[in-house]
Formats: sequence, C-alpha cells, structure tokens
Amino acid sequence: MPTYIADTVYIYQSELKLISEYVLQNPETETGGDLFGNWTHQSCPVAQVAIGPGPHYDADRAHFYQDVEFLKEQGRYWSKKHALHHIGQWHSHHKLGLEEPSTHDDATIYNAIHKYGLNEFLLIIATLQKEVRLKAFIYRSNNKRYGLRWSVLESKNPYKPDEYYDVEAPACIDVEVDRKTIELALNDEASWLNTEMGRKWLRSVHESLKSQCNNVSMYMDAKKQIIIACEKHRRTFEFVIPEQYPQYQSYWRDIEAKSIFTIPHHG
Ligand SMILES: [Zn+2]
Repeated sequence: MPTYIADTVYIYQSELKLISEYVLQNPETETGGDLFGNWTHQSCPVAQVAIGPGPHYDADRAHFYQDVEFLKEQGRYWSKKHALHHIGQWHSHHKLGLEEPSTHDDATIYNAIHKYGLNEFLLIIATLQKEVRLKAFIYRSNNKRYGLRWSVLESKNPYKPDEYYDVEAPACIDVEVDRKTIELALNDEASWLNTEMGRKWLRSVHESLKSQCNNVSMYMDAKKQIIIACEKHRRTFEFVIPEQYPQYQSYWRDIEAKSIFTIPHHG
C-alpha cells in the first residue's frame, strides 16, 4: 500500500466534453455514467473512457442510478478490448445544487469499496451553473476522500472513434483545479462541532429538516462550513453553518426557505 496521496486525475478533453454534453442535455433530471481506465504508480486515476447512462437507467431530481446490466456489459467490453477497468463514476448534482458528493454518495461508495475490496474509487460531480462545472474526488479504503486536480490529456482519445462523440461541444467547461481535503473538524478544539451541545444541536437541526422535507443531505464544504441541503415544493434550499459559528450566524442560502422551515434553537 502506498503511503502518498494521489492528487491528480488524468482525463481526455473528449471525455470532459462528453460528460458536459450529457449534463447540458438533461437540465431537468440528474444524469450520470461510468469511467474506465487505470491507475498510475502514485495511484492517480487515469480516466480514459467515460460512458453515459445505459438504456434502463433511473434518475430523478436528486439521484442517478446506472443501468446495472449495461454497466456489466461495458465493463466486459473495455476490459477485454483495451484492458481498461471500471475505476469510477460520474453524475450530475445540478438539481441537488451541491458541488460536493452528498452523504448518500459517500455511503454508497464506501460500501462498494469494502464490498468489492477496492483500494480507491473515482467520483466526478457535475453541476450546471452558467456553465458546466466538474469536480473530481478520490475515495480511499481508509474511508477518506480527497479533491483531485485535473490534468487534461491533449491528444485525441485513441480508444474511441470520432463518430462516438455524436455530441456538440458544450459552451464552456470550467474545470476546477483546487485541491481540497475534506475531513470533519472534530479534532479541531475550537470548533463548535467539538462541543457536546454543538453536536446535539446539529443532530436536532438535521432531524428537524428530515421531518419537514425531502432529499436531505449534509456535508462539509472546503470552507469547513456545514451545509444541509433539502428540498421542498420541488426547490432546493441550503442551510449553512459557518466554521466560526456561533460568532457568525447560520443562514439560509435561499431567502424563501426562512418562511418554510423551522429550526431548533441553539443551546
Ligand atoms: Zn451525488
């Protein structure tokens, strides 16, 4: 087992375009697909081939479920023809509005890693703002995930013929290059999360939102803010708790949410 941390994902420009085009073509529901390739000596993922959803995929405004038979078939094809392996998955979060993996994503991927005895797994999250934004994350068997920087390969993809890309180039691809390490701040003495009362309050907020709305997911972003995303009346709202809470107040990202949800008092 290597002790260094992979920090880069290698991918062809053509595959970024393919993913972006699927996202642009599906503005009303989430979409997704899978990634085939290999790993470098430093355990960095090389995503040589991206595929979209199979004919029997399932998707709604918050989740994407790949067509399992299609994925197996594709897995056999790429492995037999080109020795490319299933190294990860991509899906959109443009309806969910999260640039990070959801708690549902984390749980699903950690389960798969342990179930299939994998060392790591790649996840690309696509969001649609003014343009398609793509962020890459690597999950490791020690139950940690890290943000990856992009290295876009310049040559044409040798694994796919030109006809494969029967898609128009998207208007713009804004590829995020930040490296981020996402770990809960529980070791940070000063964090409100490190107090019994803070954790109890967070649990009650989370429970309260789960009882009032759909598709609740909670995560920590790069600024170490806790974000709780939730959906009501077919709209997504976010409750944000800053790292310096309670010095800085928690707030709603959509002003309308204030009148819709009730949140328990802190302390
Ligand atoms: Zn997701």
